[in-house]
Amino acid sequence: MNASDERTRSLWMDVLVADAPQLQKNITADTVVVGSGIAGLSVAYELALRGQKVVVIDRGRIAGGMTSRTTAHLTSQSDDGFETLIRVRGLEGAKSFYESHSAAMIASKQYRRKKISIVISVASTAIYSRPLAARQVN
Ligand SMILES: Cc1cc2nc3c(=O)[nH]c(=O)nc-3n(C[C@H](O)[C@H](O)[C@H](O)COP(=O)(O)OP(=O)(O)OC[C@H]3O[C@@H](n4cnc5c(N)ncnc54)[C@H](O)[C@@H]3O)c2cc1C
Repeated sequence: MNASDERTRSLWMDVLVADAPQLQKNITADTVVVGSGIAGLSVAYELALRGQKVVVIDRGRIAGGMTSRTTAHLTSQSDDGFETLIRVRGLEGAKSFYESHSAAMIASKQYRRKKISIVISVASTAIYSRPLAARQVN
């Protein structure tokens, strides 16, 4: 099932972010990325910056997968909390989660400097623990 088949819809699912023609002939590339969501496009972009000829292919619309549903909240926190992450993935797994998310946040800021259309606003995050106490974390 693709994201477009799911019942709930985001406000921006109907916005066409970019379009490209169907591939009509054989072409060569250093790397072929399958999937034009945030993961595929970010990888393709980084490889292209390093001089590779990259082709991105997708069975559907550009960024029409799960990426079309995101609320685009960038954080190095885990939804389930680091305690759970360490329990399930171990300390090294939790560290790499934190580091990869932090790197993605830094990369997004760099994309903005390179005039790629991206709007980032910094917001505070509050983690609520049960039952009532709230703690401001950043
Ligand atoms: C409601 C909601 C809110 C979210 N909010 C956030 C948030 O605030 N912050 C956050 O970080 N994350 C959020 N997420 C998660 C985030 O959206 C996803 O983790 C992210 O978009 C996944 O990107 P992706 O590129 O891996 O996958 P996708 O965007 O799904 O891209 C995969 C692409 O690959 C294509 N594809 C798959 N298989 C093939 C194939 N065999 N051949 C050709 N093409 C193929 C698909 O068509 C699709 O376009 C949210 C998710 C949801 C559902």
